[in-house]
Amino acid sequence: MSGNFLALAQPGVQQLSPYVPGKPVDELARELDLDPASIVKLASNENPLGASPKALAAIRDALAELTRYPDGNGFELKSLLAEQCRVEINQVTLGNGSNDILELVARAYLAPGLNAVFSEHAFAVYPIATQAVGAQAKVVPAKEWGHDLPAMLAAIDANTRVVFIANPNNPTGTWFDAQALDDFLQDVPEHVLVVLDEAYIEYAEGSDLPDGLDFLAAYPNLLVSRTFSKAYGLAALRVGYGLSTPVVADVLNRVRQPFNVNSLALAAACAALKDEAYLAESRRLNEAGMEQLQAGFRELGLSWIASKGNFICVDIGREAAPVFQGLLREGVIVRPVANYGMPNHLRITIGLPAENSRFLEALTKVLARG
Ligand SMILES: *Cc1c(COP(=O)(O)O)cnc(C)c1O
Repeated sequence: MSGNFLALAQPGVQQLSPYVPGKPVDELARELDLDPASIVKLASNENPLGASPKALAAIRDALAELTRYPDGNGFELKSLLAEQCRVEINQVTLGNGSNDILELVARAYLAPGLNAVFSEHAFAVYPIATQAVGAQAKVVPAKEWGHDLPAMLAAIDANTRVVFIANPNNPTGTWFDAQALDDFLQDVPEHVLVVLDEAYIEYAEGSDLPDGLDFLAAYPNLLVSRTFSKAYGLAALRVGYGLSTPVVADVLNRVRQPFNVNSLALAAACAALKDEAYLAESRRLNEAGMEQLQAGFRELGLSWIASKGNFICVDIGREAAPVFQGLLREGVIVRPVANYGMPNHLRITIGLPAENSRFLEALTKVLARG
């Protein structure tokens, strides 16, 4: 007799729902028999510019060494990051995407009997990383779609080891300011590691969004995680990083895979970091696209949640799933967020001007059908 391998999985895993990614272009093309080139995907907060040409050139150069293991310590990338982020190299942890950093934290600091605190409508990887190691997820109700930091503080108990906060948050796009962050960090007990997820921080430059790095020196229980997947346009390569005290970095280093970031990713990330023009253009495009979408929503009489990311949640005013399906039939992929407790919203990634227009036209058409 064979065992019941669902019931045999550890309890946290039995109750897990797997991450649901944005629908891939090729999948929709197959389903609807469409030309992939005709499909607009605004579903995964990817940079619509395509990767930096400098990153592509670096990848081509790195191809010659594909037979070798990558530098397991990621020395060059860590050095560049340390310099840019004003920290020592031993404060940098590289990850296979920042997703990897979140999981390293969970593996190192969470276990059955311990818990992680995070917000309702927060990034789907927090519950996955937490439950996967058998720890309990303490989900704190959101306030106006955003993190209720005082309520999150109140939820911390003796068994809490990690708090995940995202600024801005995905999928809501909501954010908190420097004062709110400082007040929060002041009061978090010393036995709790605060993971400040800044996956979209590069888009927030010049706004009232705090730079998590400004708080590292004062708060040894802070880890800032960042990624090359969003503004740096390298989502496919999977590179992210954590910045923390050397002690936390050392702990994470003990549990990571020896070669968790591949050599093409390392080379591309180094080049992307140096390509300031690309980043500036990404920001400019994002700001223009954000205005374009908001103008379109206004015209359609739809409201939205103000966002500091490269995406925006629009309120359809009724169940959004049929509108999502209608958009698919128009060859436009956006992101339903019912699994984030937001059944009436759709999350739209800011695209190129023509992609945003295609989406708005399709939305107008689908809504007119009722
Ligand atoms: C996209 C995203 C990440 C991680 O993306 P990686 O590709 O794994 O670096 C982390 N946090 C949030 C909030 C995100 O939206």
